[in-house]
This record gives sequence, structure tokens and C-alpha cells, in this order.
Amino acid sequence: MCQIRAALPPQPAARAGDLTVPDVTIVVDVLNGFCKQGNLASPRCDAAIPKILKAVEARRQAGDQLIFLADTHDSNDREFEVFPVHCVRGTVESEVVPELQPLLKEATLIRKRRYSGFFETDLEARLRAAHPEQVTVVGVCTDICVLHTVADLRNRDYRVVVPASAVETFDGPGHPGDEVQRWALAHLKGVLGAHLLFVSPSV
Ligand SMILES: [Zn+2]
Repeated sequence: MCQIRAALPPQPAARAGDLTVPDVTIVVDVLNGFCKQGNLASPRCDAAIPKILKAVEARRQAGDQLIFLADTHDSNDREFEVFPVHCVRGTVESEVVPELQPLLKEATLIRKRRYSGFFETDLEARLRAAHPEQVTVVGVCTDICVLHTVADLRNRDYRVVVPASAVETFDGPGHPGDEVQRWALAHLKGVLGAHLLFVSPSV
């Protein structure tokens, strides 16, 4: 970490002047199981949906390719040793919330079974093909699947933008939402090097 290294070239590599290649927006786990119903449904995450929708719409209009990640577990998944049962394959919990469903028509949906969208998925291949200059990440939960996906993006030297109003986490025992949200945003910026975007409340 503290070693002196030769200067790295600018990252990511320039796309040879090809301005027609869109960037990518990743929508993390905005699912019924985290917003509407089930053991992990959170009113905080549900309340964030309009801001998430607004951010995704803005990026879509800017030409971004949309990739939705969807937590999808087998009924005996070992993640349930850490969290209560949620988002089991084939249940309504593992589906994108109704408010964002219209966007799926022109998006890629990637199902995942761990926090990072890269684990045992084709996200890496899709990003390599899309070759974005930046990846915008929105969704839930800021400190879990958003954070681990951003970490894996940054490990691959993607420029990552996180609109702060379009990521959210839950309130629960030992997991105070406001405090965790502040920690996670600081970690995304200060440790992982993501670019946080803040908009004024009136926007
Ligand atoms: Zn899960």
C-alpha cells in the first residue's frame, strides 16, 4: 500500500475517441425483498425508490447502458447463516420493484447470490464489452451490496460515481441506518475512491 511504484497510465484507458460507446449504470438490489415485503424489507429503502428512479432516468437519458443486479438465493443458501431468509429464487422478493420495472425493458438483469455483483456472474464480461469510462452505481444497501460491488469495480480500475441520494440502507438492531449510511458513504469515497454526487434538496 505504501510502496513507491511507477506512475500508472490514466485509468481507464481512453476509448480511442469513440464517443458513441455509452457508459454504464448499475442498479443494485432494488428488489421487493429489500423494499416491499419479507424479512429484510426496509421502509428506508422503499422511500429511496423515487430518488433512485430519478438518478437512473437521468443516466438512461445520458445514454447509459443499464444493468440491474438482483439478489437471488437458493432456499438453503449459506448467506442465510448471516441474514434471515430473503430473495429466494422464483419468489416476488427477488423481483425488481414495480416502480423500476418499466426500465427493465431496455436493461440487462443479472442475478447474483452474494454481495458483489461480480461473484459467479457475467458482469465482468459485460463491462469489458461495454468498456465504459465511468460506472454509476445506485441502489441498496449502501454498506453491503453497493459497497462490495463498488469495491470490485474499483479493484478493476473503473471510475465509479455514486449519487449519494440514490443509495440507501436499512434500520435494524445494531444497524442504525443514518450512522451506517454516513460510514458507508465515507468508505466509498475515502477508501474506495468513488466519486460521490450530492444534489441540493430542492433538486
Ligand atoms: Zn442476499
